[in-house]
Order: sequence, then structure tokens, then C-alpha cells
Amino acid sequence: MSEDPTTGRWAPSPTGDLHLGNLRTALLAWLFARSDGGRLLWRFEDLDGAVRPQFYDSQLRDVAALGLDWDGEPVRQSDRLELYRDAISDLIRRGLTYECFCTRREITEAVAAPHGPSPEGAYPGTCRTLTREKRERRRGEGRPPALRLRAESGASGNTHAELTVTDQQLGTYTGIVDDFVLQRGDSTPAYNLAVVVDDAAQGINQVVRGDDLLPSTPRQVFLAGLLGVAPPSYAHVPLVLGPQDRRLAKRDGAVTLIHRLALGEMPLDVVNLLLGSLGLEPVGSAADLPAVAKRFDPAALPTEPWIYEPPAVQTSGGTTD
Ligand code: GLU
Repeated sequence: MSEDPTTGRWAPSPTGDLHLGNLRTALLAWLFARSDGGRLLWRFEDLDGAVRPQFYDSQLRDVAALGLDWDGEPVRQSDRLELYRDAISDLIRRGLTYECFCTRREITEAVAAPHGPSPEGAYPGTCRTLTREKRERRRGEGRPPALRLRAESGASGNTHAELTVTDQQLGTYTGIVDDFVLQRGDSTPAYNLAVVVDDAAQGINQVVRGDDLLPSTPRQVFLAGLLGVAPPSYAHVPLVLGPQDRRLAKRDGAVTLIHRLALGEMPLDVVNLLLGSLGLEPVGSAADLPAVAKRFDPAALPTEPWIYEPPAVQTSGGTTD
């Protein structure tokens, strides 16, 4: 039986300039896909309210400036709402959803309640068994409900179940599948739903992304099963951390491409910084990247985060800040 050719994707949210951590993940998604001659698709995950339109183009420009390419036209989740609605309708029809009126605060309080452990982040199932009367009352309060998946776990009376997934870089990972949100109260499809629908619709069979998303993976694999689609393979890659071991952020200095260029670096310097952080040899020009992809061995990648040290700042005077 012949294997389908690799189709990977890179799925940034256009909410800001990409920083070195994002660019490093983009480079990795590119290397994984191109290492076996696969395709790489670009998908903007723009269902989030924090989207700012200027970042669609600037993100494309920055990744292209590094010498990375992708196949076809980038797609935007905001243009694909119909697809998510269809999947949600299907789940509703099959009785696999329920409305949830909980506020974030109510969930936090319920998770902390003494009656039975609810593992970190797992929805405790509060609205799963609301009577029709209670549901009507909460609807009358005016806050539109979110829609949650009635995950199979409820059948045994538990509020959550666990699922083990296999990750190409990290091995097996067992994580929670709770009654997670499919559609937010403002009717926006939730990330976990959209990502599964999109990966299936775009024929994605390889997901390379930051390992902060590993805990979402069991939920996504579970949902793929319910929707009757094969989950992709997963390679979760370590994040880049700033000086205090926090996720890299703007406060960490010149961490975006535009800032690096303002320091006098060339895009190639940034590519080589990223390659070096992955234990890969520097290149003389972006045209050498396909050769790097050919030699690319995921098993040799670091599994620990890259701790980014900002370049030393030259000061001319005696002031510090
Ligand atoms: N949009 C997510 C991000 O920017 C990536 C989601 C994914 O790769 O599944 O971190």
C-alpha cells in the first residue's frame, strides 16, 4: 500500500509579529515537510478576537524573507466558517453536544470544589445534566451558551477520560479528553474544533507545532475519531523561552525579524541563529536550505526548550534602565 505524500501545515494566528519562537516553529514545519519532499500549507488561524489585519501580510513577508516557502494560497479560518458549522451540526444531530452556561469563574470554582478531583483544565461537567428547566432559566439570564462536546467519558459517570497519543518527538502522551468547547458563546467555532476540521479538509497528515499544544492533542484526536477522519501524525517541538524561563515575548527585546533587521542583522543571520538553536549547521544563503531539509533528522533535534539570550546591548553612556 502506498503512503500518502506528506502534507504539513503552518498555522499562525495573525495577532502580532512572529517572534523567534514562532519563526523557529515555522522553520521546523518547513524542514519536516520538505525533508521527504512533502507539501506545506499555510493556514491563518484567525477566529480569535485578537486578530489584527496588518499581520496577515507581515507574517507572510517575514517567513518568506527567511527563505521558506509554502504551497498554494494561504487560507484563513474566517473564510471557512461553513465547514465548522457543518461539523458542529453533525455533532448536534448525533446528540454529542450540550449547551454550557458556565462563566470562567464558575468553572474555576467548580474545579476547586472538594467533591471529586477534576484534573487541571478539565471541565467538571456542570452543565452536562442541567434539567430543561434550569437550562431555560439560564438562557433567560441573557448570556448565550457555549456548546460543549459530550465526550464519551460521561457514559461511565466520570467528568473526563484520558487518551494516549503518540508524538514523533516526545513518544506517548496521555492527556485529558473532557467535555471541551466546540463553539464559543459568541458562536465562534472553538480552536479544537476548527483545527481538526481544517486538518482533515486540507488533507494534512503531519502536524508540527509548539509543545504547548501537546495537552490539546488527545482532545483533537478524540474529535477526529468522532468525525470519522484520520488524525495526522504529530511532532511537538520545544518552545523558545526568554531569560526567566518564560515563553519568549516582546519584552525580551529584539525578538521579531523587524527588530533583528533594525539591529543590523540580515535575514540569513536570523536563519542561522535558528538553525544553530536546533543543532544544525549554518548556511551560506537561503538557497542552501533545501539541502538542510534533505539531511534533516528529526531524531537529532533537541527536546529541551531553547533559552534565548538577548544580544548584549551596546551602551555609550553610563545610564542603565
Ligand atoms: N494557531 C496556533 C498558534 O499560533 C497553532 C495551532 C496548531 O498548530 O494547531 O500557536
